[in-house]
Amino acid sequence: MLMQMRGKRVCVPRMPGCFILDLRRVIIRKSGDGLSSRELERYRRQLMLAGFTLEHQKMLKDSTVLVAGVGGVGGTAALYLAVAGIGKLDLVHAGRLTPSNMNRQILMRSSRIGESRVAQAKNAIEAINPDVAVEIHDERLTPVLADTLLSGADAALSGRPNFHERRVLNECCVRKEIPMVEGAMNAMEGYLFTVIPFKTPCLNCLYPEDNPEWEELGFPVLGAVSGVLGCLMALEAIKVLTGFGKPMTSRMLVFDLQGMDFRKLKISRDRDCPVCGHGRPEDSASPPGRPSLAK
Ligand SMILES: [Zn+2]
Repeated sequence: MLMQMRGKRVCVPRMPGCFILDLRRVIIRKSGDGLSSRELERYRRQLMLAGFTLEHQKMLKDSTVLVAGVGGVGGTAALYLAVAGIGKLDLVHAGRLTPSNMNRQILMRSSRIGESRVAQAKNAIEAINPDVAVEIHDERLTPVLADTLLSGADAALSGRPNFHERRVLNECCVRKEIPMVEGAMNAMEGYLFTVIPFKTPCLNCLYPEDNPEWEELGFPVLGAVSGVLGCLMALEAIKVLTGFGKPMTSRMLVFDLQGMDFRKLKISRDRDCPVCGHGRPEDSASPPGRPSLAK
């Protein structure tokens, strides 16, 4: 029945809410160029997405993402990049698993408390999707490590709970012109935006100063909240890597899950930003300013 309707958009009435299929993509998918039959079957349901093609899937397979942090945010993001079919993950996170990590760090196992977290993350991801290559770095993100890893990366995810490592990643991503997804949360609130170096605001444009009162492990976390943010960050990375969908660039998503309040704010580059303010001459930096409500 599907083959008889190739090239046409058809409505399948028995699906919930009248589901639309673009059958041209179904035909293309049959070629499987660059993807194994196992991969085609694994990703079959996402290849049904309108506008998400075999080419997008191959882009994911050919991509490397640096994930700074495998905790409640970064671990969730890494997991969803893995199940989506990312080619390679570089995971950076120092330290061993503690019981208080277990309310949110979904790649970890209680039986392995006291062991390296990135090692557990690698094991968990490889068990879920053996087609994903995972390299691990059980250390803090330093400028040297960031520079080395980003030399082979297509995008980076910022999921560390301290200003220093976030700024290291932001500076290095801007300098090497690699997109970075920035996400942070505190209690029931969070924010998300994507940095396209010299095109959209970087972290330093918006937050040029650290909060001296911030304690790295001193804020409340509910796993479902960090998980929501991690999923959103994975989605942003997929968009940036493939061109599928519209990422949060020059806009910031802020949310308060206490009342399920989601808002999008306009954000602007700071011409005087010491990280990205001296970009290329063709840059069209907007006047600096804190986030304002987007339309
Ligand atoms: Zn900047």
